Amino acid sequence: MQQVVSIHGGALAGCAAALAALRAGAGAVRVFEKSRFPRHKVCGEFLSNGVEAVLRNLSLWDGFQSLAPAPISRIALHFPRKSSHLELPKPCWGISRFALDVWLMRQAITAGVEWRTEPAPRADGPTVLAFGRKDTASKGHRTFGFKAHHRGTISDSIELFFFDGCYVGVNPAENGITNVCGLGPESVLKAHGFDYDALCRRSPALAERLQSLTRHMDWLSVGPLVYGNRFHSPGEGSVYPAGDALGFVDPFTGTGMLNALLSGALAGRAAATGNPVDAYLRECRSLLHRPFLVSSVFRAAMRSGLGERAAGYVPASLLFRLTRAHLG
Ligand SMILES: Cc1cc2nc3c(=O)[nH]c(=O)nc-3n(C[C@H](O)[C@H](O)[C@H](O)COP(=O)(O)OP(=O)(O)OC[C@H]3O[C@@H](n4cnc5c(N)ncnc54)[C@H](O)[C@@H]3O)c2cc1C
Repeated sequence: MQQVVSIHGGALAGCAAALAALRAGAGAVRVFEKSRFPRHKVCGEFLSNGVEAVLRNLSLWDGFQSLAPAPISRIALHFPRKSSHLELPKPCWGISRFALDVWLMRQAITAGVEWRTEPAPRADGPTVLAFGRKDTASKGHRTFGFKAHHRGTISDSIELFFFDGCYVGVNPAENGITNVCGLGPESVLKAHGFDYDALCRRSPALAERLQSLTRHMDWLSVGPLVYGNRFHSPGEGSVYPAGDALGFVDPFTGTGMLNALLSGALAGRAAATGNPVDAYLRECRSLLHRPFLVSSVFRAAMRSGLGERAAGYVPASLLFRLTRAHLG
């Protein structure tokens, strides 16, 4: 019997799930998305290079290229005492969530998905949970993210600046946008009155990088951010968590969007074909366990004073490789 698949949340994981479910033969696919698109979203907007395979599988690669994402061919990690550089063998991509999410929604609707702009109901039948992060954290130990688009000199690199327990990424997106996005502990952000321009000036290297850029939107912020995953959760009926609802990986890895598209596509296919939730979770664990593990070790090292010094000696190429999904 052809399944009717419901998807809760219509961003990256939700749209990938919807399209994969249709391709796998679902009788009907219904997406519930509470927000109206397009909208800005706090995100570094750096898409890792494994995305090509995922988008090709969904027949979305050519369409994605027509959005003119900015190619990113170099990575620089700046620690207080040392910098580490990497030339990428295959480009990564910079694309705003303002452009990407609405484009994915249109692809889903064109393919025949029923799109409902409303909060998701209770799960009933095969359901993909793609509603993003839901965890909360106690006051005082919270981490918040922030971002704003800038304009000015365009570069083909992503630069990450680590300082004062925070980090800020600067990378290009489409149409000459440069995205500046970071995160930090509540205590540090509060000490600067949540003034993100002032915070960025705390790092001399970042302040220098921002000199050639002008901010052209208000800062947006989001949080609290809670890291972790549910790869080991016992499966509940036919409910498949995907994207950040499955696990939120530290954004410095630049892999959350890729993981969302990847797990969303797997979840949509599993929901449409009746693949058991436990088997789906095992598949996600084997693909994604490593980036979660490596990023949590890196984060713990950075939290200790020693880590910030030692991190500059870790080759960027190794860190990049170990924080990607294990795609074989
Ligand atoms: C500061 C920061 C920087 C980041 N930088 C990067 C980066 O550079 N590169 C990268 O790859 N990743 C990055 N990420 C991670 C990336 O943003 C996420 O991993 C990605 O957005 C996950 O996609 P998703 O579809 O699972 O969830 P989301 O993008 O959060 O989408 C969830 C959707 O569900 C909807 N929704 C929620 N609740 C309901 C409900 N009850 N009913 C209906 N709809 C609902 C929401 O409106 C939303 O549209 C960053 C994250 C943060 C916080």
